[in-house]
Amino acid sequence: MIQSLNHSITKCRVGLGLDFHRLVAERPLVLGGVRIPYAKGLLGHSDADVLTHALCDALLGAAGLGDIGTHFPDTNERYHGIESLRLLDQVITLLSQEGLRVVNVDATVIAQEPKLAPYFPAMRTKLAGILHIPHDRIGLKATTSEGMGALGRSEGIGAMCICLIERA
Ligand code: MG
Repeated sequence: MIQSLNHSITKCRVGLGLDFHRLVAERPLVLGGVRIPYAKGLLGHSDADVLTHALCDALLGAAGLGDIGTHFPDTNERYHGIESLRLLDQVITLLSQEGLRVVNVDATVIAQEPKLAPYFPAMRTKLAGILHIPHDRIGLKATTSEGMGALGRSEGIGAMCICLIERA
């Protein structure tokens, strides 16, 4: 009984990811790999896809493989302007090399504007293809900070993500 309990505990692992990026003029807004029409976009070395970054960090954390900054440092020109979905794809490769696969992910984006819900289906399609899981195992939600603080003034967008991974 104790043996089977231990086995079930080590089979699955959870991870948490959190990220923020500044909103600036003359940058595209990309979230979950989807370009969203908006007057501003997120600033960063890559495409600054804050949702995908939080997802990468959750997966790396669950696997005990460090974080996105360790694997894809913003000092490396190779990652300049890179699509963050490509980073996520590399994270999934790292996990599979460790014999790990994704069970499900659940994320919340914190943005005062724009409204994101219309873009969730497209984001789920993109993410499902990379994570190799069905759409219904990808939770996407959005909230505002009710106008409070920097995010409430639309100075940036934040995202948090939790994931469950298991031994393949
Ligand atoms: Mg980031």
